Amino acid sequence: MDEILLSSTNGRAEKATFREALLKGIAPDRGLYMPERIPVIPPDEIASYAKMDYHKIAFQVSRYFLGGQISDKALRAITKDAYDFAVPLEHVYEKKYVMRLDQGPTASFKDFAARMMGRLMQHYLNKEKRNLLILTATSGDTGSAIANAFYGLDNIKVVVLFPEAEVTARQRKQMTTLGKNVQIIGLDAKFDDCQALVKTAFADRELDYLNLSSANSINIGRLVPQTVYYFYAFSRLCGSADREIIFSVPSGNFGDMMGGVIAMRMGLPVKKFIIATNENDEYPIFLKTGQYTPIVPSVNCISSAMNVGHPSNISRLVSVYNGSMDETGAIGIMPDLKQMRRDMYAISISDRWTGETIQEAWSSHKLLLEPHGAVGWAGLQQYLTDYPEHDTHDQVCVSLETAHPAKFPEKIRELLGLDPELPPSLEGIEEKEEQYDTIGKEYGEFKAYLLGRYGS
Ligand SMILES: *Cc1c(COP(=O)(O)O)cnc(C)c1O
Repeated sequence: MDEILLSSTNGRAEKATFREALLKGIAPDRGLYMPERIPVIPPDEIASYAKMDYHKIAFQVSRYFLGGQISDKALRAITKDAYDFAVPLEHVYEKKYVMRLDQGPTASFKDFAARMMGRLMQHYLNKEKRNLLILTATSGDTGSAIANAFYGLDNIKVVVLFPEAEVTARQRKQMTTLGKNVQIIGLDAKFDDCQALVKTAFADRELDYLNLSSANSINIGRLVPQTVYYFYAFSRLCGSADREIIFSVPSGNFGDMMGGVIAMRMGLPVKKFIIATNENDEYPIFLKTGQYTPIVPSVNCISSAMNVGHPSNISRLVSVYNGSMDETGAIGIMPDLKQMRRDMYAISISDRWTGETIQEAWSSHKLLLEPHGAVGWAGLQQYLTDYPEHDTHDQVCVSLETAHPAKFPEKIRELLGLDPELPPSLEGIEEKEEQYDTIGKEYGEFKAYLLGRYGS
């Protein structure tokens, strides 16, 4: 298999191998690493996934990006170890399904990426006897998924920044009750402020010696695993049939949907991606008008993990459509909007609509959704209303549920009057002791904290 190098979306950094991009996170020119070409999987191989377990599909698909960078034996072991939980496709009506990506250890879809990335990093660091300090900003679920995926590893320390007012108590406890090599910092600020601090630290040459790396959705190591569940859904619901599938993806930082778009470019027969955002509607507006304006500050919605006013991965998306956008959101070359509109339908779902969707899904179908999954489901329903020619009883549609409803008990109780059952991974968390620090949103303070704690 030919080795695939990665280039920066800003185009001013040297090409990197997968290993280098994984350990660096962001490119030196502040762009994001993207494969310089997207490998194509032959249709008969995709058809053969129908009989494979999830972890085997994960091996097959990621091998296309990692070939030559890791032995098959090691990659097989990593995918098998990372994906030891179920990936239910819940039937709702006709051929409409919800894919529950919430069965991992932190009950969020981010486990898929974090567990694989953590294991890949550990693999390379062990070999090279190196250490890393992972910095990550979270709007809720990234932090706990990353903290859990790296918890207890010898050569990796983790610092997670979170906006105190934007995460639920349960989300916070999933991070703050760990300890060991995991340090959590709360900020009286927005997610975007937390993300800005992390980005500034990466660009700060005086911190180079701390061996910083990112685990946010900007890391290429998160993107590759997020292509896999699209192949999986197709393999189970379409198999080898000559059919196209529709996905609806609740989106914030656009890592999840980028996994889907890359899967489509790899040859997965996708008819349409529905990109469903909450009230942070910068992308639906862009797709419609060609005008891109980040939303500052981002709007606080009940689907809190999607409160992103300027998705980091949007520059990757633009690059796939032959355009360029820098990290501030400025467009250098306009992407092929026509093609984008052919592939995608984007819609913004208000909080009120989200709540009504949770109620409607429960009363009509006994489908239990939490706010993020409800944004996706509402997007799918609206798409089928707008395009009745695709609303046929045999059209396969899959809406992604990205978190377990038990992570949002207050909201579910308020809307449905019931308490979602806790998955085993969340049991006992209430009683554990929390430990975290708080800082302001000035970069100087954050830098001093890092140097004081990790600098000597
Ligand atoms: C992170 C997250 C999202 C958004 O995913 P992106 O890759 O950032 O678009 C959606 N739902 C939940 C529960 C999340 O944690």
